[in-house]
Amino acid sequence: MSQTISLAGIRQLIGQWLGQGKRVAGPIRVNADTILYQNLTSAEALLLDGCVHPGNSIKEFVMPPHEKLYEYVVKGRDVELRNQEAFPPERLILGGRPCDAAALPILDHIFNWDFVDAAYNQRRQALTIVSLACTRQDDACFCTSVGLAPDAVQGSDALLVPLGNDEYEVRCQTPKGEALFAGKCTPSDRQGSVPAGPAKQFDAKQVEALITSQFEAPVWREQALACLGCGACAYGCPTCHCFDIVDEGHAGGGIRARNWDACQFPLFTLHASGHNPRQGQASRQRQRVYHKFHIYPEKFKEYLCTGCGNCVRRCPAGLGLLSVLTAIQQAGAAAPAAKGEEAKQP
Ligand code: SF4
Ligand code: SF4
Repeated sequence: MSQTISLAGIRQLIGQWLGQGKRVAGPIRVNADTILYQNLTSAEALLLDGCVHPGNSIKEFVMPPHEKLYEYVVKGRDVELRNQEAFPPERLILGGRPCDAAALPILDHIFNWDFVDAAYNQRRQALTIVSLACTRQDDACFCTSVGLAPDAVQGSDALLVPLGNDEYEVRCQTPKGEALFAGKCTPSDRQGSVPAGPAKQFDAKQVEALITSQFEAPVWREQALACLGCGACAYGCPTCHCFDIVDEGHAGGGIRARNWDACQFPLFTLHASGHNPRQGQASRQRQRVYHKFHIYPEKFKEYLCTGCGNCVRRCPAGLGLLSVLTAIQQAGAAAPAAKGEEAKQP
Protein backbone atom coordinates (compact mmCIF):
# COMPACT_ATOMS: atom_id res chain seq x y z
CA MET A 1 0.00 0.00 0.00
CA SER A 2 1.41 3.43 -0.95
CA GLN A 3 0.57 6.95 0.16
CA THR A 4 -0.36 9.60 -2.39
CA ILE A 5 -0.92 13.34 -2.46
CA SER A 6 -2.27 15.65 -5.16
CA LEU A 7 -0.61 18.83 -6.40
CA ALA A 8 -3.47 20.75 -4.77
CA GLY A 9 -2.63 18.97 -1.48
CA ILE A 10 1.02 19.97 -1.84
CA ARG A 11 0.05 23.60 -2.47
CA GLN A 12 -2.20 23.49 0.58
CA LEU A 13 0.72 22.23 2.64
CA ILE A 14 2.89 25.10 1.40
CA GLY A 15 0.16 27.59 2.26
CA GLN A 16 -0.03 26.20 5.81
CA TRP A 17 3.73 26.50 6.32
CA LEU A 18 3.83 30.03 4.93
CA GLY A 19 0.84 30.94 7.08
CA GLN A 20 2.75 29.79 10.18
CA GLY A 21 5.65 32.13 9.32
CA LYS A 22 7.93 29.29 8.24
CA ARG A 23 9.97 29.40 5.06
CA VAL A 24 9.30 27.29 2.00
CA ALA A 25 11.61 27.09 -1.00
CA GLY A 26 11.52 25.22 -4.27
CA PRO A 27 12.09 25.63 -8.00
CA ILE A 28 10.44 28.77 -9.36
CA ARG A 29 10.56 30.49 -12.75
CA VAL A 30 12.35 33.81 -12.28
CA ASN A 31 12.23 34.79 -15.97
CA ALA A 32 11.57 33.24 -19.37
CA ASP A 33 14.94 31.44 -19.43
CA THR A 34 15.73 30.84 -15.79
CA ILE A 35 14.44 28.50 -13.10
CA LEU A 36 16.07 28.71 -9.67
CA TYR A 37 15.54 27.33 -6.19
CA GLN A 38 14.23 30.33 -4.27
CA ASN A 39 12.01 31.13 -1.32
CA LEU A 40 8.33 30.94 -2.25
CA THR A 41 6.01 33.80 -1.46
CA SER A 42 2.97 31.87 -2.67
CA ALA A 43 2.11 28.20 -3.05
CA GLU A 44 1.29 28.70 -6.74
CA ALA A 45 4.88 29.71 -7.54
CA LEU A 46 6.25 26.20 -6.96
CA LEU A 47 7.26 24.49 -10.19
CA LEU A 48 7.19 20.70 -10.08
CA ASP A 49 7.61 20.30 -13.81
CA GLY A 50 9.23 22.17 -16.66
CA CYS A 51 12.94 21.81 -16.04
CA VAL A 52 15.53 19.08 -15.56
CA HIS A 53 17.49 20.97 -12.91
CA PRO A 54 17.29 24.54 -11.54
CA GLY A 55 20.28 26.77 -12.30
CA ASN A 56 21.47 26.81 -8.68
CA SER A 57 21.58 24.18 -5.95
CA ILE A 58 19.91 23.81 -2.56
CA LYS A 59 23.22 24.22 -0.74
CA GLU A 60 22.40 27.95 -0.66
CA PHE A 61 19.86 27.24 2.08
CA VAL A 62 22.36 25.61 4.44
CA MET A 63 25.46 27.49 3.30
CA PRO A 64 24.51 30.98 2.10
CA PRO A 65 26.82 32.70 -0.42
CA HIS A 66 27.37 35.53 2.07
CA GLU A 67 26.87 35.05 5.79
CA LYS A 68 27.42 37.53 8.60
CA LEU A 69 28.95 35.46 11.42
CA TYR A 70 28.85 38.30 13.93
CA GLU A 71 29.16 42.06 14.30
CA TYR A 72 31.81 43.80 16.36
CA VAL A 73 31.79 47.26 17.85
CA VAL A 74 34.97 48.95 19.03
CA LYS A 75 34.38 50.77 22.33
CA GLY A 76 37.56 52.47 23.43
CA ARG A 77 39.96 49.67 24.30
CA ASP A 78 37.22 47.04 24.28
CA VAL A 79 35.57 45.14 21.46
CA GLU A 80 31.97 44.09 21.88
CA LEU A 81 30.76 41.10 19.87
CA ARG A 82 27.16 40.99 18.73
CA ASN A 83 26.11 37.51 17.78
CA GLN A 84 23.86 36.74 14.91
CA GLU A 85 20.18 35.86 15.14
CA ALA A 86 19.21 32.89 17.29
CA PHE A 87 18.00 29.66 15.76
CA PRO A 88 17.10 30.06 12.05
CA PRO A 89 13.43 29.66 11.05
CA GLU A 90 12.13 26.24 10.02
CA ARG A 91 12.44 25.76 6.29
CA LEU A 92 10.86 23.29 3.88
CA ILE A 93 12.35 22.63 0.45
CA LEU A 94 9.86 21.09 -1.94
CA GLY A 95 10.74 19.67 -5.33
CA GLY A 96 14.47 19.42 -4.69
CA ARG A 97 16.26 17.16 -7.12
CA PRO A 98 17.52 13.83 -5.64
CA CYS A 99 21.07 14.77 -6.75
CA ASP A 100 20.82 17.98 -4.69
CA ALA A 101 19.40 16.25 -1.61
CA ALA A 102 22.17 13.64 -1.82
CA ALA A 103 24.67 16.47 -1.34
CA LEU A 104 23.34 17.26 2.14
CA PRO A 105 24.82 14.20 3.93
CA ILE A 106 28.10 15.04 2.17
CA LEU A 107 28.04 18.62 3.47
CA ASP A 108 27.15 17.25 6.92
CA HIS A 109 30.47 15.39 6.96
CA ILE A 110 32.37 18.50 5.90
CA PHE A 111 30.83 20.79 8.50
CA ASN A 112 31.22 18.30 11.37
CA TRP A 113 34.56 16.70 10.65
CA ASP A 114 37.37 18.66 12.32
CA PHE A 115 35.14 21.52 13.46
CA VAL A 116 31.47 21.44 14.41
CA ASP A 117 30.01 24.39 12.52
CA ALA A 118 27.10 25.64 14.64
CA ALA A 119 25.66 28.00 12.02
CA TYR A 120 25.55 25.25 9.38
CA ASN A 121 24.13 22.66 11.78
CA GLN A 122 21.35 24.96 12.97
CA ARG A 123 20.21 25.66 9.41
CA ARG A 124 20.45 21.97 8.57
CA GLN A 125 18.44 20.96 11.63
CA ALA A 126 15.74 23.48 10.70
CA LEU A 127 15.49 22.04 7.19
CA THR A 128 13.03 19.48 5.85
CA ILE A 129 13.67 18.37 2.29
CA VAL A 130 11.12 16.76 0.01
CA SER A 131 12.65 15.66 -3.28
CA LEU A 132 10.97 15.01 -6.57
CA ALA A 133 12.05 11.91 -8.52
CA CYS A 134 13.32 12.83 -11.99
CA THR A 135 11.30 11.81 -15.02
CA ARG A 136 13.55 13.69 -17.44
CA GLN A 137 17.26 14.13 -17.93
CA ASP A 138 19.57 16.12 -20.17
CA ASP A 139 23.03 15.53 -21.63
CA ALA A 140 24.66 16.98 -18.52
CA CYS A 141 23.12 14.48 -16.05
CA PHE A 142 25.34 11.63 -14.84
CA CYS A 143 23.95 10.57 -11.45
CA THR A 144 24.12 6.88 -12.38
CA SER A 145 27.89 7.15 -12.95
CA VAL A 146 28.43 8.07 -9.28
CA GLY A 147 26.07 5.46 -7.81
CA LEU A 148 22.85 7.50 -7.60
CA ALA A 149 19.59 7.27 -9.54
CA PRO A 150 16.61 9.47 -10.55
CA ASP A 151 14.74 8.21 -7.47
CA ALA A 152 17.67 8.19 -5.02
CA VAL A 153 16.59 9.02 -1.47
CA GLN A 154 19.92 9.95 0.15
CA GLY A 155 19.48 13.18 2.11
CA SER A 156 15.71 13.39 1.49
CA ASP A 157 13.13 13.39 4.27
CA ALA A 158 10.56 12.29 1.70
CA LEU A 159 10.52 11.58 -2.02
CA LEU A 160 7.65 12.46 -4.36
CA VAL A 161 7.28 10.11 -7.32
CA PRO A 162 4.99 11.38 -10.10
CA LEU A 163 1.95 9.19 -10.85
CA GLY A 164 0.54 11.41 -13.61
CA ASN A 165 -2.49 13.72 -13.52
CA ASP A 166 -0.87 15.89 -10.82
CA GLU A 167 -0.76 13.02 -8.32
CA TYR A 168 2.37 11.91 -6.47
CA GLU A 169 3.35 8.87 -4.46
CA VAL A 170 4.91 10.00 -1.16
CA ARG A 171 7.83 7.92 0.10
CA CYS A 172 8.74 9.15 3.58
CA GLN A 173 12.31 8.43 4.65
CA THR A 174 12.70 10.07 8.05
CA PRO A 175 10.55 11.07 11.05
CA LYS A 176 10.63 14.65 9.69
CA GLY A 177 9.12 13.46 6.43
CA GLU A 178 6.51 11.36 8.23
CA ALA A 179 5.53 14.30 10.44
CA LEU A 180 5.22 16.60 7.43
CA PHE A 181 2.84 14.32 5.53
CA ALA A 182 0.93 12.88 8.51
CA GLY A 183 -2.81 13.06 7.81
CA LYS A 184 -2.27 14.65 4.38
CA CYS A 185 -1.97 11.57 2.18
CA THR A 186 -4.42 9.10 0.75
CA PRO A 187 -3.72 5.34 0.90
CA SER A 188 -3.50 3.82 -2.57
CA ASP A 189 -2.36 0.69 -4.36
CA ARG A 190 -0.59 2.77 -7.05
CA GLN A 191 3.22 2.72 -7.14
CA GLY A 192 5.20 5.41 -8.92
CA SER A 193 8.15 4.58 -11.15
CA VAL A 194 10.62 6.67 -13.09
CA PRO A 195 12.94 5.94 -16.04
CA ALA A 196 16.32 4.37 -15.26
CA GLY A 197 18.17 7.66 -15.81
CA PRO A 198 21.22 8.51 -17.88
CA ALA A 199 23.45 5.72 -19.18
CA LYS A 200 26.72 5.36 -17.25
CA GLN A 201 29.27 7.75 -18.74
CA PHE A 202 32.41 6.56 -16.94
CA ASP A 203 33.60 4.07 -14.35
CA ALA A 204 34.03 6.12 -11.16
CA LYS A 205 36.30 3.53 -9.50
CA GLN A 206 38.55 3.53 -12.55
CA VAL A 207 38.63 7.34 -12.63
CA GLU A 208 39.50 7.38 -8.92
CA ALA A 209 42.56 5.23 -9.64
CA LEU A 210 43.48 7.00 -12.88
CA ILE A 211 43.60 10.54 -11.56
CA THR A 212 46.56 9.51 -9.41
CA SER A 213 48.44 7.71 -12.17
CA GLN A 214 47.57 10.47 -14.66
CA PHE A 215 48.61 13.33 -12.35
CA GLU A 216 51.08 14.80 -14.85
CA ALA A 217 49.17 13.79 -18.00
CA PRO A 218 48.59 16.41 -20.74
CA VAL A 219 44.83 15.82 -20.42
CA TRP A 220 44.59 18.39 -17.61
CA ARG A 221 46.21 21.10 -19.71
CA GLU A 222 44.10 20.21 -22.75
CA GLN A 223 40.88 20.28 -20.72
CA ALA A 224 41.75 23.58 -19.04
CA LEU A 225 42.68 25.50 -22.19
CA ALA A 226 39.19 26.95 -22.53
CA CYS A 227 38.62 27.48 -18.79
CA LEU A 228 38.00 31.10 -17.81
CA GLY A 229 38.50 30.53 -14.08
CA CYS A 230 35.07 32.03 -13.45
CA GLY A 231 34.05 29.58 -10.69
CA ALA A 232 30.51 29.16 -12.05
CA CYS A 233 31.00 25.38 -11.86
CA ALA A 234 31.76 25.51 -8.13
CA TYR A 235 29.06 28.05 -7.27
CA GLY A 236 26.33 25.96 -8.90
CA CYS A 237 27.63 22.70 -7.42
CA PRO A 238 25.66 21.22 -4.51
CA THR A 239 28.79 19.67 -2.96
CA CYS A 240 31.45 22.39 -3.44
CA HIS A 241 31.83 24.06 -0.08
CA CYS A 242 34.93 26.28 -0.05
CA PHE A 243 34.59 29.59 1.74
CA ASP A 244 36.67 32.52 2.88
CA ILE A 245 36.28 34.47 6.11
CA VAL A 246 36.82 38.22 5.95
CA ASP A 247 36.41 41.20 8.25
CA GLU A 248 34.51 44.06 6.67
CA GLY A 249 34.88 46.98 8.99
CA HIS A 250 35.95 50.50 9.86
CA ALA A 251 37.51 52.14 12.91
CA GLY A 252 34.33 51.82 14.97
CA GLY A 253 33.39 48.23 14.14
CA GLY A 254 32.22 45.97 11.40
CA ILE A 255 31.27 42.42 10.61
CA ARG A 256 33.03 39.11 10.23
CA ALA A 257 31.58 37.42 7.16
CA ARG A 258 31.85 34.08 5.46
CA ASN A 259 31.70 34.18 1.65
CA TRP A 260 31.75 31.42 -0.94
CA ASP A 261 35.11 30.86 -2.57
CA ALA A 262 36.20 28.53 -5.38
CA CYS A 263 39.37 26.59 -6.19
CA GLN A 264 39.05 27.77 -9.81
CA PHE A 265 39.94 31.35 -8.85
CA PRO A 266 43.65 32.23 -9.28
CA LEU A 267 43.62 34.07 -5.92
CA PHE A 268 42.31 31.01 -4.07
CA THR A 269 45.80 29.69 -3.33
CA LEU A 270 47.81 32.91 -3.58
CA HIS A 271 50.18 33.16 -0.61
CA ALA A 272 50.98 36.45 1.14
CA SER A 273 54.53 36.08 -0.25
CA GLY A 274 53.17 36.32 -3.79
CA HIS A 275 53.87 32.64 -4.49
CA ASN A 276 50.98 30.66 -5.93
CA PRO A 277 51.34 26.86 -5.76
CA ARG A 278 48.60 26.44 -8.39
CA GLN A 279 49.85 28.73 -11.09
CA GLY A 280 47.78 27.70 -14.06
CA GLN A 281 44.17 26.78 -14.70
CA ALA A 282 45.18 23.17 -15.44
CA SER A 283 46.38 22.65 -11.87
CA ARG A 284 43.16 24.24 -10.56
CA GLN A 285 40.98 21.99 -12.70
CA ARG A 286 43.00 18.98 -11.59
CA GLN A 287 42.61 19.97 -7.94
CA ARG A 288 38.81 20.18 -8.25
CA VAL A 289 38.58 16.72 -9.82
CA TYR A 290 41.21 15.30 -7.48
CA HIS A 291 39.32 16.55 -4.44
CA LYS A 292 36.03 15.11 -5.65
CA PHE A 293 37.28 11.73 -6.84
CA HIS A 294 40.34 11.01 -4.72
CA ILE A 295 40.91 13.16 -1.61
CA TYR A 296 37.34 13.22 -0.33
CA PRO A 297 36.55 9.52 -1.12
CA GLU A 298 39.78 8.48 0.60
CA LYS A 299 38.58 10.14 3.78
CA PHE A 300 34.81 9.66 3.68
CA LYS A 301 34.37 6.65 1.35
CA GLU A 302 32.02 8.45 -1.05
CA TYR A 303 32.41 10.81 -4.01
CA LEU A 304 32.20 14.56 -3.62
CA CYS A 305 29.94 14.68 -6.66
CA THR A 306 26.33 13.65 -7.17
CA GLY A 307 26.36 13.82 -10.97
CA CYS A 308 23.82 16.65 -11.03
CA GLY A 309 25.47 18.12 -14.13
CA ASN A 310 25.21 21.73 -12.98
CA CYS A 311 28.91 22.34 -13.62
CA VAL A 312 28.31 21.27 -17.23
CA ARG A 313 25.16 23.39 -17.69
CA ARG A 314 26.66 26.51 -16.13
CA CYS A 315 30.10 26.52 -17.71
CA PRO A 316 30.37 29.37 -20.25
CA ALA A 317 33.27 27.55 -21.93
CA GLY A 318 31.45 24.27 -22.51
CA LEU A 319 33.48 22.36 -19.90
CA GLY A 320 32.29 20.87 -16.61
CA LEU A 321 33.22 17.66 -14.85
CA LEU A 322 31.70 15.23 -17.32
CA SER A 323 34.07 16.03 -20.20
CA VAL A 324 37.09 16.05 -17.86
CA LEU A 325 36.21 12.69 -16.32
CA THR A 326 35.55 10.99 -19.63
CA ALA A 327 38.79 12.48 -21.03
CA ILE A 328 40.74 11.12 -18.04
CA GLN A 329 39.24 7.69 -18.56
CA GLN A 330 40.22 7.81 -22.25
CA ALA A 331 43.72 9.09 -21.43
CA GLY A 332 44.10 6.28 -18.89
CA ALA A 333 43.00 3.68 -21.42
CA ALA A 334 45.53 5.04 -23.93
CA ALA A 335 48.36 5.25 -21.38
CA PRO A 336 49.60 1.62 -21.56
CA ALA A 337 49.82 1.88 -25.37
CA ALA A 338 51.75 5.14 -25.05
CA LYS A 339 54.18 3.48 -22.63
CA GLY A 340 54.56 0.65 -25.10
CA GLU A 341 55.43 3.13 -27.84
CA GLU A 342 58.02 4.76 -25.60
CA ALA A 343 59.54 1.37 -24.83
CA LYS A 344 60.08 0.74 -28.54
CA GLN A 345 62.09 3.92 -28.94
CA PRO A 346 65.87 3.74 -28.62
S1 SF4 B 1 30.91 18.44 -9.68
FE1 SF4 B 1 29.37 18.99 -11.21
S2 SF4 B 1 28.12 17.15 -11.47
FE2 SF4 B 1 29.31 16.87 -9.58
S3 SF4 B 1 27.94 17.58 -7.96
FE3 SF4 B 1 29.21 19.33 -8.55
S4 SF4 B 1 28.04 20.44 -10.14
FE4 SF4 B 1 27.09 18.40 -9.87
S1 SF4 C 1 32.58 27.16 -15.10
FE1 SF4 C 1 33.86 26.44 -16.80
S2 SF4 C 1 35.10 28.24 -17.37
FE2 SF4 C 1 34.24 28.68 -15.33
S3 SF4 C 1 35.86 27.92 -13.90
FE3 SF4 C 1 34.40 26.22 -14.17
S4 SF4 C 1 35.31 25.00 -15.85
FE4 SF4 C 1 36.31 27.03 -15.92
